[in-house]
Amino acid sequence: MKTHQHFFVSILTGLLLLSGFSVRIFADTVHCDVVVVGGGSAGIVAAAQSARCGAKTILIEAGFQLGGNATTGGVNFPGLFHAWGKQVIAGIGWELVEETVRLNHDTLPDFSVPTGTQHWKHQIRVNLPLYAVLAEELCLKSGVEIRYFEAPMKVIPLKFSDTNKENWQLITVSQGEERTILCKQMVDCTGNGTLCALAGAERMRENVTQPGTFDYSIRSNMDPVKAEARIEEIRKRYEEAKKTGLVELGDFRNGIMAVIKGNSSNYVFGADNSTGILRTETNIRGRQSMLRVLRFIQSLPGGENAKLVSMSAEVGVRETWRVKGRYIITVDDYRSGKVWSDSLAYAFYPVDLHVNETGVRPAHLEEGIVATIPFRALLPEGVDHLLVAGRCISSDRLANSALRVQATCMSGGQAAGAAAALAALKNVAPAELDIATIKTTLKEHNAIVPE
Ligand SMILES: Cc1cc2nc3c(=O)[nH]c(=O)nc-3n(C[C@H](O)[C@H](O)[C@H](O)COP(=O)(O)OP(=O)(O)OC[C@H]3O[C@@H](n4cnc5c(N)ncnc54)[C@H](O)[C@@H]3O)c2cc1C
Repeated sequence: MKTHQHFFVSILTGLLLLSGFSVRIFADTVHCDVVVVGGGSAGIVAAAQSARCGAKTILIEAGFQLGGNATTGGVNFPGLFHAWGKQVIAGIGWELVEETVRLNHDTLPDFSVPTGTQHWKHQIRVNLPLYAVLAEELCLKSGVEIRYFEAPMKVIPLKFSDTNKENWQLITVSQGEERTILCKQMVDCTGNGTLCALAGAERMRENVTQPGTFDYSIRSNMDPVKAEARIEEIRKRYEEAKKTGLVELGDFRNGIMAVIKGNSSNYVFGADNSTGILRTETNIRGRQSMLRVLRFIQSLPGGENAKLVSMSAEVGVRETWRVKGRYIITVDDYRSGKVWSDSLAYAFYPVDLHVNETGVRPAHLEEGIVATIPFRALLPEGVDHLLVAGRCISSDRLANSALRVQATCMSGGQAAGAAAALAALKNVAPAELDIATIKTTLKEHNAIVPE
């Protein structure tokens, strides 16, 4: 019966849309101001900020928890909130990180001590499961409705009128159920620009993207001194294993001794999570890599008792699509620390492009430089009532290799969330907002805004 109703309503919806009418007839249709899609670093903060501004906000997440790459991908060291001895990113993201550290009796790094080129020293190691739960609590307490196991299938622009105040009809699928949301503004925090693509915005990508990394830990139970003494033999075995396909390039990113000593870092070449098929393939390849390493270590004299100690839920993906916005942040903008009149957030990290096989050589910013994010890089070109935040913001490849880090995803996410909420509450497009009003709102919510 329900299927028949749905079919009938879908046909009617289609006809009404074709004739330019707005649609608000699904029995199970939900109305809201802002929909954020993707609950990673950007989406958590965007949704919480939107809800704290008073906008009715729904956060849609395809997975089972919040955090995205930081939790499901095992990259539980957000950074960088500080630059050159002072804090440059604060607000809701910082609130989450600080609370995770406090509740777990962990300690923050001493940010007053310069790191030089060892920027990771100012990244904050957070307890991963606790971080995911606290992100969830933060969103709920902010008034966000969280929907896990759901993803958008279709987005349809609506005609704004006296009787219809919503700009989008969003059709989602949730475990075999089709759901409809009518909303005023949407924020794409999928990391891949998936929502923007559904809404008709243009995306950009490279033919060969940076490798991903599958985070797991193997305890070799080998004596490193004895292993070092037999390193030539181990290397020979490795070369033979490579020839027969028992191990592959990328399995031992930092060499065999690193794995023997407990650092199992790897590269998953071509890692991509922008479609279900690619995400499946990427995760299977990451797990197979782990199995190859475990079996290889167990094949070494002294390594028989090697164990898998921990493993992330998913492969961490560095690069897929970037959305083409009204402005594309270039690496020159980034490196010069350019501040535009519409800069809404800071960004700080070295330019950090991982190149297949040769690895990464971070290019550090010159002393005193802190990059910024202009509002126009959060506005997809040619599509109104839609914002983008997080890894897939509008930027060239090299700028993106720095902008993709978590603190920056959070600062941009907070800006996008504030703009989406303000636009929804004023019934305007985000591009029509007064920049000063967005900045004031962000500051009221403890964000640090470039002046
Ligand atoms: C190996 C590795 C090491 C890194 N090292 C660091 C580091 O040291 N410090 C640092 O700060 N950053 C680091 N990064 C970068 C950083 O972790 C990510 O770029 C950042 O977390 C991206 O955040 P995001 O919110 O844009 O996207 P994500 O964290 O990817 O979140 C996107 C969310 O959207 C959901 N989603 C996707 N598509 C849909 C859909 N269609 N419908 C519904 N939900 C959807 C996903 O399930 C996910 O939860 C690293 C990344 C990798 C891969």
